[in-house]
Amino acid sequence: MTKLFGTNGVRGVVNQEMNVHLALQMGKAIGAVNPGTYAIGTDTRYTCDMIRSAVSAGLMSVGCNVLLLGALPTPALQYYVKTHNVAGGVMITASHNPPEFNGIKVIASDGTEASSEQEASIEEKYDETIPAVDWAFTGTCTEVSGAADDYVDAIVSKLDVDLIREAKLTVVLDCTNGASFYTSPLLLRKLGVRAITINGNPQGEFPGHPSEPTEDNLQDLMKMVRDTPDAVLGIAHDGDADRCVFVDGDGNYVPGDKTLAILASSIVKQNGGGVIVTPVATSSVIDDAVGKVGGEVVRTAVGSPKVARMMMETGGLFGGEENGGLIFADHQYCRDGGMAIGRMLESILTIGPLKDQVAALTPFYTVKKKIVCPDHLKEEVLKYLDKNTEGINKDPTDGLKLLFDNGWVLARASGTEPIFRVYAESTDKAVAEELASKYESMAKLCISSM
Ligand code: MG
Repeated sequence: MTKLFGTNGVRGVVNQEMNVHLALQMGKAIGAVNPGTYAIGTDTRYTCDMIRSAVSAGLMSVGCNVLLLGALPTPALQYYVKTHNVAGGVMITASHNPPEFNGIKVIASDGTEASSEQEASIEEKYDETIPAVDWAFTGTCTEVSGAADDYVDAIVSKLDVDLIREAKLTVVLDCTNGASFYTSPLLLRKLGVRAITINGNPQGEFPGHPSEPTEDNLQDLMKMVRDTPDAVLGIAHDGDADRCVFVDGDGNYVPGDKTLAILASSIVKQNGGGVIVTPVATSSVIDDAVGKVGGEVVRTAVGSPKVARMMMETGGLFGGEENGGLIFADHQYCRDGGMAIGRMLESILTIGPLKDQVAALTPFYTVKKKIVCPDHLKEEVLKYLDKNTEGINKDPTDGLKLLFDNGWVLARASGTEPIFRVYAESTDKAVAEELASKYESMAKLCISSM
């Protein structure tokens, strides 16, 4: 079977692995597996028109109707799918990848990311000769406007708008010339927030800077916040604006695990308790912060669809990963960059400046090791570590997590690269370093002995 889907949809360099033949066959396979009407959105990449046209043609050839929503964030497409009677959605985006990449992401009829089972049935169908329908039953293609605005209005309806409006805040927003341009400036305007926008040119060069929202890539945003005396916050998205990261009012980058902990704590406080969901790899800073306000943290395997599904099962209020992918149950079960802005503004106004909230968190030290490991040895390394750590408390949710009184170690094979990862964390830096080195050596010993 052709392996199409990675951890985040199908991606590749355009006119190499991501080409119109693949996109056409993907469109046919998606429509053949689950017939009906599909909403299609794109990010702002130059190649989106070409890939979207091929996917649309494939869908229509098997009898599906297509609704073209235009350029908008992935969560705005997901909101449209969730609130309309359609079979699903397709997002043309390669998220944070460089401009030569593009990708196809499938959205289920409830607006969530397609499950691995749904992806597997599309892959199975992809390898077949998929018959086209009789000419009289081919699908139609209709442009639909207003989906981005509806998404913004839905976010606004969930927020304490009076609180935010009265504060007359100023923020700096970095759209990375991506899809967030179509929603985040509008959202901030509707909230009465003055937004100084950089990289707000979606018809121009994508991206405005390498679009993974890391500290290195957000230097302009950090400088602009420092140079803007009134700014209480810097906001940045990735290319398709499902993720959101923040810079505090002094221009300091706030790591994603700290944002998760701060928003989780705010939301639990607001609700007087509740469940927060995050993968096993996330820092314990979230358990510490959530525990202090009477909430509970549930852990999952790595990947935002896993977090979203666990939130549905447990009634979790909020969840996410430390890369800025944040999920708010009261809006929708997917990563939602726009909603993250709203909840962060509320948190600043009800609890205090972001810088103070970061300073109040218990410091945890995480050490991350990357070990080169051929794919065929990954399972062996995991077994070896498991065998040689008998008597230690373990969490087998994803890879192997070893739980100690003063910290933890997570040993986990990468799903996409020939790499084995060892993470260690403790409130004591020396302990974190010692744990990481110990289990890195153990994994290396196993690899070299095979
Ligand atoms: Mg993304």
